[in-house]
Amino acid sequence: MPWATIDKPASPAVRPNLVDDEAVRRRFRWDEAAAELDGLPGGRGLNMAHEAVDRHAAGPLRDRVAIRWLGKRGERVELTYAHLAARSNRFANVLAGLGVEPGQRVFLLAGRVPELYISVLGALKHRAVVAPLFSAFGPEPIATRLSLGDGRVLVTTPLLYRRKVAAVRDQLPGLRHVLVTGARGAPPEGTVDLDALMAGASEDYEIGPTDPEDMALLHFTSGTTGTPKGAVHVHRAVVAHYWTGRFALDLHPDDVFWCTADPGWVTGMSYGIVSPLTHGITMVVDEAEFDADRWYSIIQDERVTVWYTAPTAVRMMMRIGAEAVHDYDTSSLRFLASVGEPLNPEAVVWGQEVFGLPFHDNWWQTETGGIMIANLAALPIRPGSMGRALPGIEVGILRCAEGGEPVLDADGHVQEVAPGEEGMLSLRPGWPSMFRGYLHDDQRYQRCFVDGWYLSGDLAWRDAEGYVWFVGRADDVIKSAGHLIGPFEVESALMEHDAVAEAGVFAKPDPVAGNVVKAVVSLRPGVEPTEELRAELLGFARTRLGAAVAPREIDFDQQLPKTKSGKIMRRVLRARELGLPEGDLSTLETGGADAEEGPR
Ligand code: ATP
Ligand code: MG
Repeated sequence: MPWATIDKPASPAVRPNLVDDEAVRRRFRWDEAAAELDGLPGGRGLNMAHEAVDRHAAGPLRDRVAIRWLGKRGERVELTYAHLAARSNRFANVLAGLGVEPGQRVFLLAGRVPELYISVLGALKHRAVVAPLFSAFGPEPIATRLSLGDGRVLVTTPLLYRRKVAAVRDQLPGLRHVLVTGARGAPPEGTVDLDALMAGASEDYEIGPTDPEDMALLHFTSGTTGTPKGAVHVHRAVVAHYWTGRFALDLHPDDVFWCTADPGWVTGMSYGIVSPLTHGITMVVDEAEFDADRWYSIIQDERVTVWYTAPTAVRMMMRIGAEAVHDYDTSSLRFLASVGEPLNPEAVVWGQEVFGLPFHDNWWQTETGGIMIANLAALPIRPGSMGRALPGIEVGILRCAEGGEPVLDADGHVQEVAPGEEGMLSLRPGWPSMFRGYLHDDQRYQRCFVDGWYLSGDLAWRDAEGYVWFVGRADDVIKSAGHLIGPFEVESALMEHDAVAEAGVFAKPDPVAGNVVKAVVSLRPGVEPTEELRAELLGFARTRLGAAVAPREIDFDQQLPKTKSGKIMRRVLRARELGLPEGDLSTLETGGADAEEGPR
């Protein structure tokens, strides 16, 4: 079913930063864009933490709240730019005192506590490389990443150390220092009390010369399609963090910004720390996990203006229903955005109905370090589309074979397809937050580039106005009886049925058709998984999609396999169906004990 375009008010209360994106695109140059940032005093280079914190702390924004932290138990802590500067200096001095050298890896394993944010910024100042881990990881994924990433220092809590690191510590000879925060009393054996070190450290620290190409961040991908890869990012990425925040999230100086992603994932780092701070705005950090009432009350009480979240959260809110929102005043909201997975058109429109604002889908990856394609504040939204390429970003849709391999012409060049045709979503390298490698896997890195393009691994098409539409990951696309079918289209159609909360769609081998489309759906609360419903859904999908594309089989499962960051793992659905090994499950959301850090 085609979804109506959502137009924007002709004269919005706040004028969007990017109004004529085509005109800006024509004159935008990344090297000139860097001039918007300060650089280190004395021309000593470009350091992410200086741009995020110190330059504001040295000026009129010194006493503005940078982080408004909301604890799980109702605590509320405000850190101004001056506080953040002083405390991150202390952490940089702690690292210096331990003999940590620039370039060495500082891993972080903690919930969203203030010390996490301070450590990230302090480590960047010391020119160590920040490698965040999601706190709900179990011991094995933690050990694998620490070892692959050459972890020298680990910042964590006593509880997480005892539960998750102590048992694997002897596998990690390179891990010299484990610093724990929140130790009331003696820290666990083999660890050092970070809070004591911080208390004894100086608040003055001068950032050393930082080459913009120095490694700053090491981010592991979400593991949706296989074993997570360690993507390397450099300090120069901050230029993209700044500009994409301005263009795609429409950040304005007085905004109260809330990015719900955990800094264990790239969204929580690029837009949950660096980008908003480079804009000198106030950001909200919530320590707790998703809870619809809690979230709505945060929007109300903190007067959140710009909200950046993920489809999985939007779908959870939809599952709970619009009524839950009505008890709260969410009128402070001005701009809503989403990333991480396909955002079903239904969800875009739901935002419009419930908050009076649509969700703006945008697209990027761990590898791209920042938003590449976005629905913009000033432009109409075509629900189901990811929006248009940002200024400074050149998107190509390249002809490719079924598995995603680019098809070369007689001269060995890739070919861009015509509007409306599907192909590999690709980008011209050259933007500042582009990854500089997969750590210790150069071959894999090299394989991402063909004929001057970076191949994202996602399939998409572009319409005549430049809006990009997601089809699926090359690995997930289904070939059935000669058709190529993107799971997203099928999942979105199923979600239009009132009974369906979420759906995961994959290829099931079939002797006649090659593959048939199979769906696993979770139902809204109170809906029973009956045979009648199954038949109804099959018919519903067939009417919407046609027999060639509609699922041939539907199963019910209230717990679709997802990554800990909330993405549906279609490869796991497929493996379960076929009784095959499920592959790397290090990022599978398991619920239960791991998800809860417990009292600190
Ligand atoms: P892995 O690479 O380990 O399989 P991953 O690709 O899920 O994991 P991320 O870098 O966190 O790791 O996610 C980027 C991917 O998420 C994109 O390549 C795309 O497949 C999907 N994605 C992100 N945003 C969107 C969006 N707006 N619409 C559709 N898909 C999206
Ligand atoms: Mg990926």
